[in-house]
Amino acid sequence: MKSRKANSDIAAGRLEPDDYKRNFGDVAPPLTPHQALIETDRCYFCYDAPCVTACPTGIDIPSFIRKIGTGNLQGSAEDILKENIMGAMCARVCPTEVLCEGACVRNKGEAKPVAIGALQRHATDWLFGNGIQLFKRGPVTGKRIAVVGGGPAGLSCAHRLAMFGHSVTVFESRDKLGGLNEYGIAAYKVPDDVAQREVRYLLDIGGIETRLVQALGRDVRLATLRRDYDAVFLGLGLAGVNALGLEDEQIEGVYDAVAYIAKLRQTRDLSTLPVGRSIVVIGGGMTAIDIATQTRLLGAEDVTIVYRRGKEHMGASYAEQEWAQTNGVKIKHWAKPARLLMQNDNLKGIEFEYTRLDAKGRLAGTGEKFSLQADMVFKAIGQTFVPATLNGSADVLELSGGRISVDEERRTSLPMVWAGGDCVEGGKDLTVAGVQDGKVAALSIDRTLRA
Ligand SMILES: Cc1cc2nc3c(=O)[nH]c(=O)nc-3n(C[C@H](O)[C@H](O)[C@H](O)COP(=O)(O)OP(=O)(O)OC[C@H]3O[C@@H](n4cnc5c(N)ncnc54)[C@H](O)[C@@H]3O)c2cc1C
Ligand code: SF4
Repeated sequence: MKSRKANSDIAAGRLEPDDYKRNFGDVAPPLTPHQALIETDRCYFCYDAPCVTACPTGIDIPSFIRKIGTGNLQGSAEDILKENIMGAMCARVCPTEVLCEGACVRNKGEAKPVAIGALQRHATDWLFGNGIQLFKRGPVTGKRIAVVGGGPAGLSCAHRLAMFGHSVTVFESRDKLGGLNEYGIAAYKVPDDVAQREVRYLLDIGGIETRLVQALGRDVRLATLRRDYDAVFLGLGLAGVNALGLEDEQIEGVYDAVAYIAKLRQTRDLSTLPVGRSIVVIGGGMTAIDIATQTRLLGAEDVTIVYRRGKEHMGASYAEQEWAQTNGVKIKHWAKPARLLMQNDNLKGIEFEYTRLDAKGRLAGTGEKFSLQADMVFKAIGQTFVPATLNGSADVLELSGGRISVDEERRTSLPMVWAGGDCVEGGKDLTVAGVQDGKVAALSIDRTLRA
């Protein structure tokens, strides 16, 4: 990054201390026991329930709801966690409006689904609150598996393998486990250290050794892991970010949204985190919504998301777009960045060109321009898999669409190497999808090792 003098419009402590607490408090407070009971009554306990089909981890939703209704909260939590060990996190972060709740039959009559996410949180919070461990390690098999990456995919795989009695070593490049649960998800969705509470619960099963600050490609090599372990699972996530393709993009003032969010998530006192007065976010997915909303909640006065296509094309759901707008974020559609605007070595804004679809349905600039004032511009136009970590090893995995190719059991092109989560092709880039990948891979690894 080129050295520039500090922009005085980027400052910490824009809000009163209580505002930070309020802005980053629990966005969806838990149901009371009474509210939960009333909500369970709304479930029809459908046969062949569409909500179950819509859940990537296949949780038996009517069953766990019925158990809450009969006061069997432990049984309910067990229904959830046996399919999705990160059920507590997913209850908070899943875009339920496009998954289970989107499929709920209650939408037809009343346009109001059963609050499945809130009920899932009710049951799992009860379990954690009561310190009940539901899982124990199976009889030790003597098989050793290396899991690379301690995010949802890697941890879900490690936990399931431990249930089967295998010995697991998790190699994680950061100094904390959890992946984007710890470093990426918006702070107001997961207050109170939920991510680390889940990590502790998961490791409590035993048989999982963790090696932190150990990166594949830097400290360990894939070839060595394949030699020393019976199987390897790669849950590397996406370490790179797409560039805007603008001249001078490396200047101070242009930030990677994911890196800033990671910093925000690790900052205990948010009044110390500098934020701009005028912010422009480029992108249309969940990351764009999260960085825009969180910078606004940190006290930025003017935050605008600019997306090159229409509202209906955005990766973020309508509910997420609405959430950002409710928090004062403006969203502009059909425009792409053209150039950064500078004054006295400081970023002052960004110029955009309007876009439209041409006769062949391709995105094209119209030639008309407009500019927005900005002292911070955030790039949120997608993350990329960084294959360099693999090239550090002697083996090279087959990639497809820039991510690792896997079959339906999450086997890669290399024998005894599995992969899952965001780093594999066709990944849905959701926590719940990573958890499912880890589980599916663990089942396949176990079957293979026992064969
Ligand atoms: C800003 C943001 C907000 C999001 N919000 C939501 C949300 O609200 N709801 C939702 O469902 N999903 C959300 N997602 C997506 C979700 O977080 C991911 O889909 C999920 O975390 C994928 O899990 P994973 O295990 O594949 O990858 P990750 O969570 O990225 O974990 C990968 C792990 O591997 C480690 N690692 C990487 N390279 C190496 C290496 N070379 N050696 C060792 N370790 C390595 C990383 O440090 C990390 O711990 C969000 C994503 C982002 C970026
Ligand atoms: S679809 Fe809705 S009503 Fe039917 S079982 Fe699922 S949550 Fe209950």
